[in-house]
Amino acid sequence: MLPKYKRILLKLSGESLMGDKNFGMDSTVIAQYAQDIKSISELGVQVAVVIGGGNIYRGMNEAETGIERAHGDYMGMLATVINGMALQAGLEKVGVYTRLQSAIKMEQIAEPYIRRRAIRHLEKGRVVIFGAGTGNPYFTTDTAGSLRAIEIKADVILKGTRVDGIYTADPEKDPTATKYGTITFQECISQKLNVMDMTAFTLCMENNLPIVVFDMNSPGNLKRVVTGEKVGTLVTS
Ligand code: UDP
Repeated sequence: MLPKYKRILLKLSGESLMGDKNFGMDSTVIAQYAQDIKSISELGVQVAVVIGGGNIYRGMNEAETGIERAHGDYMGMLATVINGMALQAGLEKVGVYTRLQSAIKMEQIAEPYIRRRAIRHLEKGRVVIFGAGTGNPYFTTDTAGSLRAIEIKADVILKGTRVDGIYTADPEKDPTATKYGTITFQECISQKLNVMDMTAFTLCMENNLPIVVFDMNSPGNLKRVVTGEKVGTLVTS
């Protein structure tokens, strides 16, 4: 089975790690993600991962947390490193070589983010997990995903979510909503479809980086996307 993509950036949300829990992470979800990532790495696909932190902490809501936005955002970035370490442990358990690179220096647990080094790891078949988002407050991990994907020249960003693609309306609220197989960046804008936050979305659009939105919680789906099956929604220029 020949993969459609040579190098991918997989964006996972922190919340998806919770599974059925209300907080934190579920070991069965991590084990499933690890197996799915392993299956595409074995096809020779170079895999980089950006993981969110929303299951542990979101800095954005100053009114709710009572913590100044920038300060809270740094806390959110640290949360992504915890998730990155959890995924790293899950991957190594199933025999996948990994490197965790952090945008905020913490040398006892992660390499610092060095673009050329990350590419070298990928070429050697290691899965590279990027932690701490962009390293800057006022950004999201979706933006970190787009940025890193462009930096490492990934062929595509695969956004793993709970829904299996982009719909005409929110499928959890509107039963008549239908799914797009493919859609252009411009159509997403004109239909006001919220694929990623604007910063992340614009980065992809301006750099011709296709996005696939798909359901990462169905085992085997990641491999289906990577081998070109019509899973999820593809956003292109
Ligand atoms: N964050 C940030 N800069 C970044 C990435 C993340 O400040 O480049 C902070 C921000 O507070 C965010 C939190 O980290 O709320 C967790 O990331 P995100 O909400 O994107 O995670 P997800 O929704 O994917 O779980």
